[in-house]
Amino acid sequence: MPVILAADDLAPSETVQLDKSKILGFITEGGSGSSHTAILARTMGIPAIIGVGDQLKPEYEGREVIVDGGTGNVVVDADEATKARLMAKREELLKRQKLLEQLKGKENITRDGQKIKVFCNIGNPEDVPVVLSNDGGGIGLFRSEFLYLNCSDYPTEDYQFEAYKKVLSDMDGREVVIRTLDIGADKQIDYFDMPKEENPALGNRALRICLNRPEIFKTQLRALYRASAFGKLGIMFPMVTSVWEVKEARKMCELVKKELTEEGKPFADDVQIGIMIETPAAAVMSDRLAKLVDFFSCGTNDLTQYTLACDRQNNDLGRFFNPHHPAVLRLLKMVCDNAHRNGVWVGICGELGADLELTETFLSIGIDELSVSPRSVLPLRQKILETTVSDVKEKILADLLGDENAL
Ligand code: PEP
Ligand code: MG
Repeated sequence: MPVILAADDLAPSETVQLDKSKILGFITEGGSGSSHTAILARTMGIPAIIGVGDQLKPEYEGREVIVDGGTGNVVVDADEATKARLMAKREELLKRQKLLEQLKGKENITRDGQKIKVFCNIGNPEDVPVVLSNDGGGIGLFRSEFLYLNCSDYPTEDYQFEAYKKVLSDMDGREVVIRTLDIGADKQIDYFDMPKEENPALGNRALRICLNRPEIFKTQLRALYRASAFGKLGIMFPMVTSVWEVKEARKMCELVKKELTEEGKPFADDVQIGIMIETPAAAVMSDRLAKLVDFFSCGTNDLTQYTLACDRQNNDLGRFFNPHHPAVLRLLKMVCDNAHRNGVWVGICGELGADLELTETFLSIGIDELSVSPRSVLPLRQKILETTVSDVKEKILADLLGDENAL
């Protein structure tokens, strides 16, 4: 029987292995809304209340529980009136979702004709059907590390090739951006045998591991280039801070292409190379980084964490962890301007991309693509269709760049 899973915490490595058909919802004591467990739950479309602290009591085990993912409320042994109210709310929500279905097949275009791509974030090849059923235009972020989290040893080149090939083939010619391995911080994998760190979010993670352990990086890049023959691939590097890192990563791409050519293995010649902008250093250096890549994708989860010096895992930081902070938004504008000056497209793949309060801002600063969890595609399309950018742009930019009292 499906259950609501309550736990002190759920590591991403545990969450990816859960049988989704048996889970109605999650409740965890630890974690936060931008932790990877919350992100995974969003992709799976499972209501999750993350970070309830010591409110979770052992005596709730086996009792009837209602989880309201909209408000973050958990009701134990609801009385009949509460049950009826929450069920009516659920019906209302389902009705609204049904109405949104009318937007399938429509363009993502504002009232005054500005277009923006709406793509999806996924964690494994099985997520593709839900991307297609929600009319996602492509995949803007495939978190490839979830493949690694699902394995008990380093995934081989062939294993990875099959997974990437499946996503590219199933997306049938639509763009697919696959991020190279981004482990470290909350995504720990035993077989990597990484030394324990005092500050893992500032430690050996993502591209840093790949550049220090080229055999792992090369295996993944070989699998990616081989898969590129089956669709429209973009490869993206996470946690960039310096120009030299991108140059070194690109060198590895060249080496892989040379090897595959010598081996007579086919790969596409139009693979785009991009980087995540998720550190303030990358945002500030985006004028130079733009000269090295085809696209930027802004990881606002980490960009918020590093810009505001606020741990994204820590639910107690409350109002200090504010992704709407003008410092974050100004960096996004700077990245957009530097990208466009250099003919590079720019997207947002952090959770902020689906935040409808900021859609007008993203359109005003000229973001080209928003990559969101599949179920956020249609609500976002509705917001885009209702927006007239020319009505709001001037004020939004003045607020963003004007005097400090404006925001
Ligand atoms: C981000 O940091 O915004 C991002 C998209 O990557 P992740 O959440 O996996 O760190
Ligand atoms: Mg990140």
